[in-house]
Amino acid sequence: MKLTYRIVEFHIYINGWTCIQIESLISGVGGTGRGGLRSLTRYDEDTDWQKKLTPEQYVVTREKGTEVPFSGIYLNHSEVGMYHCVCCETPLFSSEAKYDSGTGWPSFKEAHGTWGQDESHACIIRRPDNSLGSAGTEVLCKNCDAHLGHVFDDGPDPSGQRFCINSVLLNQNKH
Ligand SMILES: [Zn+2]
Repeated sequence: MKLTYRIVEFHIYINGWTCIQIESLISGVGGTGRGGLRSLTRYDEDTDWQKKLTPEQYVVTREKGTEVPFSGIYLNHSEVGMYHCVCCETPLFSSEAKYDSGTGWPSFKEAHGTWGQDESHACIIRRPDNSLGSAGTEVLCKNCDAHLGHVFDDGPDPSGQRFCINSVLLNQNKH
């Protein structure tokens, strides 16, 4: 059995976590050719999110809900560590970027892995969203498409960004 790995996306972060997506292409011996693609990502499209998550986590992450402001466990949380996606454990935001925006939701100046203006190494993606009544930008987990919250351009310097993120979808690992 010959195994060939094609690295689609490979990001290594300083904290030792690897955000990795590998597709393995398996060829059988004897010239049977391509045996099929096997995904090694943590996110499986068949995941039963309703089983894996609490009802509140499910509504926020998979149905784009929003938790009640000033209700989240991480709103006034100041412990040092990394905040991970509750669905797939991808590191999303560092406590170093957290600040009090006064809005009632945990707020971050930038996503983990952002270098200056370059967000290509972060594990979040942005998507236009008009559901707030005006043009907004939704923030999702790049690995599993979980809805995280929204990003606004009224944040503090130097980024000027305010990532408004629901506590319910975050898990913090302490350093
Ligand atoms: Zn995720």
